[in-house]
Amino acid sequence: MRTYHEIRLSDRHITSKELHGEQVIQAGRYLIAKTLLEMDVASIDPLSPRNPLIFSAGPFSGTAWSNANRISVGCKSPLTGGVKEANGGGTFAYALGQINTAGLTLLDASPDWVVIHLTKGGDIEFDDAAPYMGKGNFEVADQLIEKYGKRVALAICGPVGEYQGLLAGVSFTDKDLRPTRLAARGGVGAVMGSKKVKAIVVDMNKMPTFEEPKKVTAGVRKYAKMIQEDEVVQNGYRPLGTMAMADFQNQFGGLPVRNFSAGRLADTGAGEEFKMGAAYIGPLNTARGGEQSHACMPGCLIQCSNIYMDADGNEVASPIEYETLGLLGTNCGLSDPDDLARVNAIANDLGVDTIETGATLAVLMEAGVGEFGDVEFMADALDEIRQGTENGRIWAQGTAFAGAHYEAARIPVIKGQALGAYDPRVVEGTGLGMMTTAQGADHTVGNLPRLDTSEMDLEEILAQSLVVQTKVAAADSLGLCAFGQTVTNTNTDFLAETLNAAHGTSLDAGFFDALGSDALRLEREFNDKAGFTDKDDELPTFFYEEELPPSGRVARFHGADVHGIYEGLPS
Ligand code: SF4
Repeated sequence: MRTYHEIRLSDRHITSKELHGEQVIQAGRYLIAKTLLEMDVASIDPLSPRNPLIFSAGPFSGTAWSNANRISVGCKSPLTGGVKEANGGGTFAYALGQINTAGLTLLDASPDWVVIHLTKGGDIEFDDAAPYMGKGNFEVADQLIEKYGKRVALAICGPVGEYQGLLAGVSFTDKDLRPTRLAARGGVGAVMGSKKVKAIVVDMNKMPTFEEPKKVTAGVRKYAKMIQEDEVVQNGYRPLGTMAMADFQNQFGGLPVRNFSAGRLADTGAGEEFKMGAAYIGPLNTARGGEQSHACMPGCLIQCSNIYMDADGNEVASPIEYETLGLLGTNCGLSDPDDLARVNAIANDLGVDTIETGATLAVLMEAGVGEFGDVEFMADALDEIRQGTENGRIWAQGTAFAGAHYEAARIPVIKGQALGAYDPRVVEGTGLGMMTTAQGADHTVGNLPRLDTSEMDLEEILAQSLVVQTKVAAADSLGLCAFGQTVTNTNTDFLAETLNAAHGTSLDAGFFDALGSDALRLEREFNDKAGFTDKDDELPTFFYEEELPPSGRVARFHGADVHGIYEGLPS
């Protein structure tokens, strides 16, 4: 059993209900899409009090189960106008689980800025947020930890979220109390700001209660063993992290470079040095005393995260991820990881999505507001976004808005949201995921980054995309980090058995794909109600018209070709 809270902010009325069995298990993306449909909010203004903001933890949250403590944040997206689930790492879901809480929904808006505190005694308290307003996330986290102690997890609305800038995510503390793990995408931080909730503090407590605790503990151990024996984890994610993808995409020709005008930054075959991937950064950072294997949440044995140091051995930013290297880095013309780390650290302090922010800055550069590769321009622009100046507020509305404002030629968005770091002319499998998902251009929903599709037809790519989209939707509904998918996707019988022991259900191995399929159907249904059509699955025109160097490829598929993908889901 776990408790779920609905907190009506307008009068601080709290409705708490007990969840049992499958109600605890069907969390995250599934729960968010289902709740948004039930609340009939497809046609509302996303920044109005009617938009709920949902925080949902998975069924193993609160345990040391490796990579099972992702937190899902959901609402109608103010960036896309569609369904939104953005998930982040860190300790927030872990702490919720430790107080036997499955999640919470924020309803309405508070009359004054508040900090909400969920105590280990089961109380929900409202504190004055005045001491934290307008400050960067690191200072706010320090203040909150001083007030509430170190045995807490934090969710913070940063200074950009305060004024409802759509770049804003919700920032969560990692296991070392850095506020740098974001539910980044879709403007969820702006929705938190619209509700005048500055932060949520959750006390850590103890291992949650389960139906058969010994079997759950054995499951935690067995999963850990499988992760430690998994080749992809041990030879890829753990030593190299996601930044290894930059080396691959630079070779593959799918790296976003200077606002998606090229697919490769450095021709390593011709002797040019590529400094924006793991091959260069890993040894450099290790020599400086940085960490290339770091866990963002308790118990994670994949440890894809990192801590990047400067030449003097001082921490600059954590984590440096591939998507940030791509969008805030090469896509803005940067070629030095120290420059990227500098702006990444500022973005972390602001609590903004580095994908949307990087794509926005690159559009500004293309429009002549700045120069590609000019890190000083980027730092100054982020400062304007922090201050909320007139320009800063325009830029904080994201890539689509800023691109239209400056009449930029290339505006790399789908459904109003910037693309992840995979040029869809070359990385077609990921491109189809970003086109078709109801989430907007989100690569995580169905990433096939290494799939060479040059000899494949549309039907084959769609089929592969549907398989991976289904499995990711299931993982996102269970609080599982997708980087463990080589183990979770192939052991759904074991997952079902352990969930049954945890929550008294009688699932079989087929539950995993069924949960993912249902989540995808619900998300599409929500977007249908919000008025989306196949035209919204189209790529921006330049992807069809401009050949991408060095491959020379253009986009092959249109919205009408791919929109029917979910008709292939089993009924
Ligand atoms: S694999 Fe990486 S992102 Fe996922 S939980 Fe572990 S450290 Fe966090």
